[in-house]
Formats: sequence, C-alpha cells, structure tokens
Amino acid sequence: MTERTFQRPYLLQNTVQHYAWGMRGDRALIPRLLGMQAESGTPYAELWMGGHPKAPSQVQMDKQTLPLNTWIARHPLDILGFQCYNRFGDRLPFLFKVLSAAEALSIQAHPDKVQAQKLHDQHPQHYPDDNHKPEIAIALDRLTALVGFRSLPELWSMIQSYPPFRPYLGQDVINLIYRSQHESFDKQKHCLRMLYTRVMRKAVDDQQALSETLQAMENYISGKNHPSADEDNYFLSLRKKYGDDVGLLSLFLLNRIELQNGQGVFLGPGIPHAYLQGNIVECMANSDNVVRAGLTPKHKDTETLLNILTYEPGFPKIYTPDNQNTHTVYHPPVEEFAVERYQIKADEALNISTYNRVQIWLTLRGQGTLTWPHDSMIINQGQVVLIPASLNHFTWHSQENMEFYMATVPPSQGSFP
Ligand SMILES: [Zn+2]
Repeated sequence: MTERTFQRPYLLQNTVQHYAWGMRGDRALIPRLLGMQAESGTPYAELWMGGHPKAPSQVQMDKQTLPLNTWIARHPLDILGFQCYNRFGDRLPFLFKVLSAAEALSIQAHPDKVQAQKLHDQHPQHYPDDNHKPEIAIALDRLTALVGFRSLPELWSMIQSYPPFRPYLGQDVINLIYRSQHESFDKQKHCLRMLYTRVMRKAVDDQQALSETLQAMENYISGKNHPSADEDNYFLSLRKKYGDDVGLLSLFLLNRIELQNGQGVFLGPGIPHAYLQGNIVECMANSDNVVRAGLTPKHKDTETLLNILTYEPGFPKIYTPDNQNTHTVYHPPVEEFAVERYQIKADEALNISTYNRVQIWLTLRGQGTLTWPHDSMIINQGQVVLIPASLNHFTWHSQENMEFYMATVPPSQGSFP
C-alpha cells in the first residue's frame, strides 16, 4: 500500500448488540439511525464503533473489508497517529457506542487500571479485559440514570420517607448517617462505605431479610394514595421484573439524574451507576469490564464491588453545551478519549484538522459531502467514518442540517485547539 492509502476517510460497518434491555419496534433509535427496518420483537441495544475484539468494526477498503483492530495493528502510526501510538500502542484506546435503553441496565461500577489488571489475572472469565473503563454518556434525547451516592442529608431524608427500609439498615448505620451529615468529606465517605457494605452484604448473608424488606417497601409504596415520587414508580416497575434483587434498594441511595439532549455525565472508576432509560452516545476506554451490583440476572461480585467503589457523596458534574455554540467538546479527565459534537446548517462548510490524531465520526442527522485533497464522498445519516491521523485536513459540506458526534484521542498536553 502506498503512503497515500491512509490519506482518505474510511467507512466503518459496525456491530449492533441485541441485548434484552434494548429498544424494540418503530421507536428503536438504532434501526432508525441506520435506515433499516426493525425486526419485530428484536431489541436494538448498542452500536459498537471501534476495535474491541468482541465486536470490531469492519473497515471498507476498495477490494476487501478488514476488522478495525487487525487493520490498526498493521498500520498503527498511519491510522492512530504518533501521540496515540506512543501512549497506547497499536490499538484504538477508546470504544464509541450508541446505546438505546428501553429498560434499566444493571447497576454497576468499573475498576481502575490497577484493579482491572488484578481482576483480569484472577478471574479472566468475569473480567475479560485488563484495562479500566471510564466512560462518558451524552443524551441524544433524554437519559434517566442513577449515578453516584446521594449526599448524606438527602440519604437521611430518604430514610425518613421510607420507614420499611430502616430495620434492614440497622440503627447503628442510621445513627451514623445522621451524625455524618455535617462531618468532613472523609467521614462522609466512611459512612457511605458502612452503609453500602451493610446493604450489599446483608443481601448475601440474610436473603430472607432482603426479601421481607422489599415486600414491606412494596406494600408501603403501593399503600400510598398516590405513589408520587419517581423512585416509587421505578421501584414498583423494577420490583415486578427483578423480584428480590438488592439493586432495588439502590434507587434510594444513588442520585437520579435526567439529562437532556447534548448533556453528558462522566463515570470515572468506582462510581456506581445504572442507566434506567434513554438514548445516548457513549465513549469509554477500550474495555468491557463490569462489576455488577444489582438489577441483573448476571454474576454479582459483591465483595469486588465493595472494594472498588470510591464512596464519594453528592451530585455528579453535568456537561451542558452552550446553546449558542454549534461545537461542544466533552473532555473528561481521561487520556483515552474525548467526544465532540458539531451541528451545521444546510449549505455550510466545516473545515476540520486532525492534528495527527485518529477520529471516528458518527453522522447523527442529515446528508452532506466529505471532501479531502484527492476526492470526496456523500455521507448519509447513520454512516460512520474513520479519519486516519495521516489525513491532515478535510471538509464537510452539508446538503441539509447536520449533526455529528466525533470521538478522538485528546492531545497529550494542553487543551483542544
Ligand atoms: Zn458503565
């Protein structure tokens, strides 16, 4: 192949994951985005764009297609660029996804790098990757999610609002929550560790107590004149599906967030979280390591989970785009990825430089022409383009209003140009 081979964009074909919680039918986002007919009854949960060995994207060349991870391993400098190759070797450091949840995903947390390495060495069957998995979730319409622990005053008021929860927690933990409300951050973290350890271990050691508590909570909530709080409604619907699952109690312990279109939240290592409903783009370090804490029939590794959580109280930082801007950069505190959103009106041009860093563009809306020094191609909604680091400049010309999400590797020093 000549040097010039890499100085052009490449279309990617991406895998759709049909996990059971995905959206189905006409309202399913992923088939609508891809311009395909949804098969009736089939859930469309995730679209994977990247080189993860479990489901690598396929790169379309002139005469063949190749898995993206294989292709990158052959030409890492041309495709990833010098900085990325230096830092992460011959694989794409991030995985980019569209995720479309009709119902709750399991409550989970992800290990940091050191923990991930250790878990993978000890239990490769449960932890397939030796890498950490920080992730950012950006809402495409609305996202409801549980993220991080509530503040102690909020937890205190939750416990007041749901009396049947109290015997399960025990008076010692309740007293600790009351006392810790106005104490130092470290003492509050200690309190959350005690609280969550009690909740999770008791579910393993005393299943009858868990079962009775969940039944008492159900009776209490159903007995209210109007189950008013959203927690009530989520509890009742998830209770039907998951029965005696300890994850139901996390509804009262974790912050519930509602993101609107374009808003994002970063999930660093050790932050408990669960998506309850919505459509998002998601970018994460290239890993599939998940430690589950509930709302799942899958393996729950309670002790590992209790070990990796950071137990920081309070509401997470929400990335909110400025509505005046047609360009938003989401750069959470990680080395592996950043996400950018671009919106352009019909008949506009958008000039892009890669600064020798690989980019993956998802065309969320609209149609346009992508032009580079030697050629051009028409790109439609749902198409995904990989820009190798070797292509320095290119231009989008929109035929109609267009919206893109783009994942890239952040500069190793300083900020985005
Ligand atoms: Zn996650």
